[in-house]
Amino acid sequence: MTTKTEPSRAHDPRRIVVVGGVAGGMSAAARARRLDEQAEIVVLEQGAYVSFANCGLPYHLSGEIGQRDALLLHTPESLAASLNLDVRTGHRVTGIDKSAQEVTIQAGDDTYALPYDALLLSPGAVPVRPPIAGLDHPAVHTLRTIPDVDSLRERIEELLASRGRTQPGPSAVVIGAGFIGLEAVEALTARGLQVHLVELADHVLPPLDAELAPLLSDELAVHGVDLRLGVSAQAVAPAGTIPVTLGGTIRESGKASSPGAVTVTLSDGATLAAHLVIVNVGVRPASALAVEAGLEVGPTGAIRVDGDQHTSDPHIWAVGDAVEVTQAITGARIPVPLAGPANRQGRRAADSMCGRRTTPQASVLGTAIVRVFDLTAATTGANQATLRRAGIAHEVVHIHPGDHAGYYPGSEQVHLVASFAPDGTLLGAQGVGRAGVDKRIDILATAIRAGMTADDLAELELAYAPPYGSAKDPVNMLGFVAQNVLDATMPQWQARDLDGALATTLILDVRSRSEYAEGHLSGALNIPHLELRQRLDEVTTSAGGRTVSVYCASGVRSYLATRVLLGEGFDARNLSGGWLTLQAVHPNL
Ligand SMILES: Cc1cc2nc3c(=O)[nH]c(=O)nc-3n(C[C@H](O)[C@H](O)[C@H](O)COP(=O)(O)OP(=O)(O)OC[C@H]3O[C@@H](n4cnc5c(N)ncnc54)[C@H](O)[C@@H]3O)c2cc1C
Repeated sequence: MTTKTEPSRAHDPRRIVVVGGVAGGMSAAARARRLDEQAEIVVLEQGAYVSFANCGLPYHLSGEIGQRDALLLHTPESLAASLNLDVRTGHRVTGIDKSAQEVTIQAGDDTYALPYDALLLSPGAVPVRPPIAGLDHPAVHTLRTIPDVDSLRERIEELLASRGRTQPGPSAVVIGAGFIGLEAVEALTARGLQVHLVELADHVLPPLDAELAPLLSDELAVHGVDLRLGVSAQAVAPAGTIPVTLGGTIRESGKASSPGAVTVTLSDGATLAAHLVIVNVGVRPASALAVEAGLEVGPTGAIRVDGDQHTSDPHIWAVGDAVEVTQAITGARIPVPLAGPANRQGRRAADSMCGRRTTPQASVLGTAIVRVFDLTAATTGANQATLRRAGIAHEVVHIHPGDHAGYYPGSEQVHLVASFAPDGTLLGAQGVGRAGVDKRIDILATAIRAGMTADDLAELELAYAPPYGSAKDPVNMLGFVAQNVLDATMPQWQARDLDGALATTLILDVRSRSEYAEGHLSGALNIPHLELRQRLDEVTTSAGGRTVSVYCASGVRSYLATRVLLGEGFDARNLSGGWLTLQAVHPNL
C-alpha cells in the first residue's frame, strides 16, 4: 500500500473534486466545466462505471434496451476528451479532512490524499438490507448498478438455456413492490420467468393512494404475477433446507456453494421456490462519509444543505439521493431519491461552486412515474396518507374520464385522484391508466409548483383535438369537480366512509337495472338517473328524512342525480369516484 498526497493547487487553477460519478456528480462536473474552462475538475467514482443510465437498467434486463453500451452514456476517456474532466473510476473516497480541505482516496492498494478548493458530494443512496435470513445466497440480487444487471442477465441466460422441454420455466421472487421492484417484475416476466412479488404493505407501490393500487394488482395478475401483499420475506435458503435464524443476524442452515434454486419463506408461513431473488425494499442516504467528516445531517440521515446545495461547511456542497430536500406540501425535510432532483441539484451546485447566481432549490414534489405492463402509474405532491399524517385539511376527488374524446376510437379511462386544500389549492395528484397519465400528472405537477387552485385547473387551456384529449380535459374536470365539492354544489361522500353511509343513510344506486343486477350495495334503492325526477316519492319514502348517499359507476350520473335531489330539498351527496373507486377500496363487495 502506498500513501501520497497530490500537490495542492488551491489557487491557480482551482481544483473541484466530485465524489460520485453518476447522476448528480456528473451533472455538477459537466456544468462546472462549462462555466469554468480553467478549473481542474476531478471526479472520483468507486465503481467501474461513470455516467451510466441507472434508470435504464430494468429495461436492459427486460431486453428492451438491447445494447448494454446504450446505458453507458460516457467513459472516463470520452469525458476527458469532451469536457477535460479527470475521471477516476475504482477510486473510493474514504475520508474528508475539512480543515485541511482534502479527501483521502482508496484506489486498489493505494491510498492517497487529494486537496480541494471545492468539494461536491454526490454519493447517492445505499439499498436498505432487510432482516431476511440468507440474503448472502448467490441467487439473491439487487438492481442498482451495471454489474448488478450483468449478473442478473447472466443468471437468466443460464436458467433459460438449462430449461428442459418438459420442465416449467424458471421462477423469481421480487421482494418489494416499489418503483424499481415493479420494473424488475415487468422485466423478469418479459424474459419468461414466473414471478412472485412480495410486499409488506397492503398494496403495491406504497406511495400510491390505496384506491388506485388495485388497478396495478389486477394488471400484475393478468400478466401472471403471483402477488403476495401484507407479508414479509423472512428467509432465503437453498432449496430443501430450513432456515434456522429469522431476522436480525443473517444465518442459514445450509451453505450454498453455487447459485442454485432457493426457497423464500414468508411471514405467513408460505414458501416460494425461486431460481433468483431480487431485493428492492428502498434506499437510505449514503451519508456515512459526511457524518464522519462532521457535516450536519438531518434526522433521516440525509445531508443537510441550503438553497444552493452548500453543506454546513463553506467549501463542501452535496446533491442527490444523499441530501435532504423540503417536501413541497408538508415542509418535511426528507431525502427524495429521484433522478430529476439529483440532476438539477448538480447543476445548481456547480453554479454555486463557480460563483454564479443560483436558482435557489425549490421544494420537491416527488413527481414520479412507473410503467407496469400496459398501465402507467404516476404521482405528484402529497398523497392522502401523507396529508392525513401531517394533519393538513383536504378534500379528495376521484374521476375516471377518457384520455381523449370518447367518440374517437381508442379512448382509455384515466383514473385520477387529487387532493385540494379548503381554499382550493392543489396539494397532490395521482393517476393510473393505459394512456394519457404522464401528460396529466406533469400538468398537475406544474400546477402545484405554480400554487394553482381548483379554479385555475378549471380555466387551464390545454391542447385539444379528438385523438389527444377532450374539450374538457381530465385536468379541467378535476378543477370542475373540486370547485363543486369546495363550494358545496356537490356534497360528496368517500368510499372509506361506507360503513357509516350504510348504517345511517339511504343508499341510492342510479345506475341502469342491468348494472345494478351485476352487483350493488346491499340495501341500495335502484332508480336509474333518467327516472329519478318521476320517482322522487320513492326516495322520500325510503329515506324517511335521512341523508341520501348516491352512487353510480364513476360519479357522473350520480352527480346529476345529486343535483336533482338537492334541488328538490333532499339532503343528498355523491360518492367520489363511484362504484369503480368503491370496489377498489372494498374489493370484497
Ligand atoms: C434501477 C434504478 C432505476 C431508477 N429509475 C429511476 C427513474 O425511472 N426515475 C427517477 O427519477 N429515478 C430513478 N432512479 C433513481 C435515480 O437513479 C437516483 O435518484 C439518482 O441516480 C441519484 O443520483 P446521485 O448522484 O445522488 O446518486 P447515483 O446516481 O447513485 O451516484 C452515486 C455514485 O456515487 C458513488 N459513490 C458513493 N460513495 C462513494 C465514495 N465514497 N467514493 C467514490 N464514489 C462513491 C457510487 O458508486 C455511485 O456510482 C433509479 C435508480 C435505480 C437504481
